[in-house]
Amino acid sequence: MSEDPQSFFRIPRVARPVLTAVVDRSGRGGTRKVKAAFEEVAARYAEHGLRVSWPVSAEIVSMAIMGATKSSGSSHTLFVSVRAVESGLLDGLIAHEMGHMLRTELGHASHNAEVFRALSREVRIPRAAEGAFSAAFNHIQDIYADDYAFLVFSTDGDDRAYEFFSQWIEGNASMRGRNRWKNVGLAATNGFALGNLLRHGRLSKDDPLWERAHAFDREAGFEAVAALADFYAKLPEDPSPAAFVTQVNTLATVMTRAASS
Ligand SMILES: [Zn+2]
Repeated sequence: MSEDPQSFFRIPRVARPVLTAVVDRSGRGGTRKVKAAFEEVAARYAEHGLRVSWPVSAEIVSMAIMGATKSSGSSHTLFVSVRAVESGLLDGLIAHEMGHMLRTELGHASHNAEVFRALSREVRIPRAAEGAFSAAFNHIQDIYADDYAFLVFSTDGDDRAYEFFSQWIEGNASMRGRNRWKNVGLAATNGFALGNLLRHGRLSKDDPLWERAHAFDREAGFEAVAALADFYAKLPEDPSPAAFVTQVNTLATVMTRAASS
């Protein structure tokens, strides 16, 4: 036999704790709460056969966004905001961030450094659009992270996801300004919020959120949210790198059309 005996005798490895440390940089506490939530969410993912295998170190920090993940090579750093620790959304945030970690480890096109290089060569956007476009691109990654997160968070009969995203649309209404691209960026965020709910069967066609988002566009002087929500809702589950580049170009086109209308 020529095969490596190790491929026959799979010795189950002793499960190592994935979460290696939780550091509180805010001085507000919460390390135990983060550890408990992380372990609970990891256990719920394990029921679906999904496991983060690179080591994760977590930091509690004061920042404007709810959370973030930085992945490098073979480890992840999870940043959790004080606001997330102190809200009832900690498990939802961790489910979302763990979705990013799983996509990165699995090399999904949306979380793959090689594909990012192809994107920088093949997607052309106006300079003024960079901020708006990078936020809209991040929402593509968020869609793929949430395809996992919805498995373990806000499952059937729980409307936390709906409440969470409807607050985004309400919040954006007061942030509209005079900068065309900034407004298109906010419209993309509305499109993501609606598209994500739509993708997971949490939004009906006559939901009042549609009118809220249309009103945003109308007052900004364009009409983009229907196309944007449709784009995010229908992103293919596991696109090839080339198909993914095509998707990103589609988003650039939809946004550029809105900005120049
Ligand atoms: Zn995210």
